[in-house]
Amino acid sequence: MTTINFKRVFIFSAICCLLNTVFFGCQKHPLYKETKILMGTFVEVISPYREAADIVFKEMRRVEDLLSRYKENSEVSRLNKDGKLKVSPETFYVIKKTKEFFYQSAGAFDITSAPLADLWGFSAKDFRIPQEEDIQKVLPLIGSDKIILHESEFVVEFKTPGTKIDLGAVGKGFALDCSVKKLKERRIQSCLINAGGQVYALGTRYGSPWKIGIVDPRKRGLRDILKLSNKSVSTSGDYEQYFLKDGKRYAHIFNPKTGRPADSKVVSVTVIADDGLTADALSTAIFVLGKRKGEELAKRFPNVEARIIEDKDVPHS
Ligand code: ADP
Ligand code: MG
Repeated sequence: MTTINFKRVFIFSAICCLLNTVFFGCQKHPLYKETKILMGTFVEVISPYREAADIVFKEMRRVEDLLSRYKENSEVSRLNKDGKLKVSPETFYVIKKTKEFFYQSAGAFDITSAPLADLWGFSAKDFRIPQEEDIQKVLPLIGSDKIILHESEFVVEFKTPGTKIDLGAVGKGFALDCSVKKLKERRIQSCLINAGGQVYALGTRYGSPWKIGIVDPRKRGLRDILKLSNKSVSTSGDYEQYFLKDGKRYAHIFNPKTGRPADSKVVSVTVIADDGLTADALSTAIFVLGKRKGEELAKRFPNVEARIIEDKDVPHS
């Protein structure tokens, strides 16, 4: 089962546009805007090129079919079922990259957190606080060091039976990168893609950087406005996929060490990077690590900027 994320970013080009239409009226030049539900979220494509949206949607669907653990025949689903699989070079690349983020983040970023999402009911949207003994039973399955990568044959294998992966923290970012590659192959140099909070700004909007507004995590309105060109921006937060129990908020990003939803006092992380996969992975990792360690991690990557909002920075109701 997948659920739909609300948008975490607001694209300024869309202000004049009401629906999925071509709009000329209040702008000097036409921009085409189309939205589709893909990868469990709204994917919005804005471009002066009419064909851009179709190229992006097709590519995102292809990547979703490879990587989603909610699609029965995806490579990730088959790997989770059998514990060993020869995968495509692309899937292999993504899993390999996530292992690098696992080590770089000292284990905070961990795609083997999937059983925790199941245990806490995020996968089936049947939220619950599990018994401590159930958390302890699941913890030995977790740890990306249990993923063995056989480089020469593109075979991925889990050391421990029962280990499962979920690429939800990088899938949209990677799909953005694939889409941008396809757009460039078709000589499209101007396009803005927003996949539920993961954005890629390709080129410019008729010579000016694309303007992206970051939604405030706790109240209506914008918190930040970014002007970007050939950059990706990703926001991870606790304000879309979460449940409340006895006044406490439990969000969908886990601390793999404790087996519980991350409790780092961060409410929202926005990461700007040169590519979608890096922005997506780092925003999730920093959400788990918290502000101080998160900033240290971000500094180790060239051209990466992280904007972190903590609990104390937002009003409490
Ligand atoms: P979203 O998918 O809502 O945009 P993220 O990119 O931050 O948000 O990814 C969150 C998803 O990543 C979760 O839904 C879950 O599938 C997975 N996940 C949860 N905790 C972790 C973690 N510590 N490391 C890697 N992936 C995680
Ligand atoms: Mg992410």
